[in-house]
Amino acid sequence: MSWRILAWIAGGIVVIMLVGSLRLAVATLKSLSKRDGRQGWRALRLLLSLFGVLLGTYSLWFAWPMLTGRRPMPKNPALARALGEPITRSGLSIMVVVAHPDDAEWYCGGTVARALGAGSRVTVVVATDGERGRGAPDPETLSVIRRKEQEEAARIMGYTRVVFLGIPDRGVSRARDLKARVAALWDEVKPDAVLTFDAAFPARPYIHPDHQAVGRAVLKLLAEKRVQPAVLYLFSSSSPDAAVDITTFVERKLAALQAHRTQFGMTGGRGAIEQNHASGKAVNFTYAELFRVVSPLP
Ligand SMILES: [Zn+2]
Repeated sequence: MSWRILAWIAGGIVVIMLVGSLRLAVATLKSLSKRDGRQGWRALRLLLSLFGVLLGTYSLWFAWPMLTGRRPMPKNPALARALGEPITRSGLSIMVVVAHPDDAEWYCGGTVARALGAGSRVTVVVATDGERGRGAPDPETLSVIRRKEQEEAARIMGYTRVVFLGIPDRGVSRARDLKARVAALWDEVKPDAVLTFDAAFPARPYIHPDHQAVGRAVLKLLAEKRVQPAVLYLFSSSSPDAAVDITTFVERKLAALQAHRTQFGMTGGRGAIEQNHASGKAVNFTYAELFRVVSPLP
């Protein structure tokens, strides 16, 4: 059974729950004025049914892109191609800030490979070891395996440098020193461009708290003027406006994704390449990675 059919079955159950909650809320509202000693119970029933309505509506809104198969696409393909071009110029210093091993390859591997090919320097900052992901008997072992997988991916990609921050997986939003450590690296690397998650306009349905925390930290550092300005290329965005042609680097991206064996197993991250192909169609590239570009703050 394909994941789309499963998503529709889950969506159907949510709709049934939503309609049930809505009918219960209306019926309870109608009987609310009765004075038969059960007013307290009816008030509680009303609260619970309204909560059900809210939860059902939110779930449907959240899962809508998955149910319909529609992905966020740039509204203006010509502008998107033009906005994506500067990151592929030669001689840049680029910093990629991600939450887990494999994020950099999955979300922007083609763009980074292309930038490296053009002679830019790329530093990848990985906040956690992804020790709560798939594929090992215990977190300690997985942490070691995933660092090795990330290092192998880095060799395939040719990153200039990979920095592991070792923050607990699924705990990035609680890491007090995240901003300070990213800022220290920023001062060292002096990036012209920073690639990270879009925390302001995240793409549904996959909104991971660690991804959000990493993206938010970068936005805050810039807003607080704690780091020198840099152009932001934000991936996993619900409002992408830039596209980078990664057609000639798709094989490299796939090879680097396959280094993350514990996470992608036999499929080897082909899902990412399929998404890049779908994104490419919208902007007349065979394969593309999409970003929301934010120019340096004045
Ligand atoms: Zn991740």
